[in-house]
Formats: sequence, structure tokens, C-alpha cells
Amino acid sequence: MSDTDSLFQRIIDREIPADIVRENDRVIAIRDINPQAPTHALVIPKSHYRNVAELAGDDPGLLAELVETAHAIAADDGIVESGYRLLFNTNADAGQTIFHVHLHLLGGENLGGMTGGPIKG
Ligand code: 5GP
Repeated sequence: MSDTDSLFQRIIDREIPADIVRENDRVIAIRDINPQAPTHALVIPKSHYRNVAELAGDDPGLLAELVETAHAIAADDGIVESGYRLLFNTNADAGQTIFHVHLHLLGGENLGGMTGGPIKG
């Protein structure tokens, strides 16, 4: 599968169903299919960037929009006061599996330490 034919591109194109929580012309946000916390959303730019560094270099305003969108979802889910975590995985050691940049929003419970054990597989 090429970068431009990523799973997220197919979700954006409505070729694959997803639980969409927010969408505008630049950004789509979906619930993660394998949630790691009670709130686990993925905030995805509709333009293709391989990782967050590419996005930041080309369109820092769009990067800011991902953060604003994640915060809005956190507010809708009622987890702003209790707290939430935002993260971007980049390449293998971080466990990136989909090479179309996406911001993870995690919250709704105590999320524990910053890192877990080694990534399986
Ligand atoms: P990464 O590991 O690349 O940072 O994150 C990819 C995320 O996409 C994972 O958390 C994974 O559970 C999620 N994911 C993989 N396939 C699907 C899918 O078909 N639908 C949704 N909603 N999430 C998916």
C-alpha cells in the first residue's frame, strides 16, 4: 500500500467505515478501532504527510488545528479537567503503523507512565 493509499485516506474517502467524531475540510477525527483508554481518538489531516515533522515543516497551522481538534474532543468527552495525553508515533521504535500522520488523544482514566514495555511484533 502506498503512502497516499493509506488506510486513513480510504477512511477519508469513505471507502472504509469509521466512527467519525469531527470533520471539516482539512481534518477528520475518528475513534480508534483498538482503544487504549476510554477516550482514544485519532485526529488526522486530510492532506497526506508521513509524520509530524513533515506536517510541522509544511503547514504548522494545520498542526495547530490537530491540537485544537483534539482538545475539543476532550472537552466533548468531559476529560479536560481530569486530563488527557496527545502523542504522535514516528517510525518503528514508537510503533507507528500507519504512515499518514495522526494525533492520538488518550484519556478518561489514569494513563500511567510515559512509556510501556517494548512494542510486540
Ligand atoms: P500508530 O500505531 O500508527 O501510531 O496508530 C495507528 C492507530 O490506528 C492504532 O492505534 C490502531 O488501533 C488504529 N487503527 C488501525 N486500523 C484502524 C481502522 O481500521 N479503524 C480505526 N478507527 N482505527 C484503526
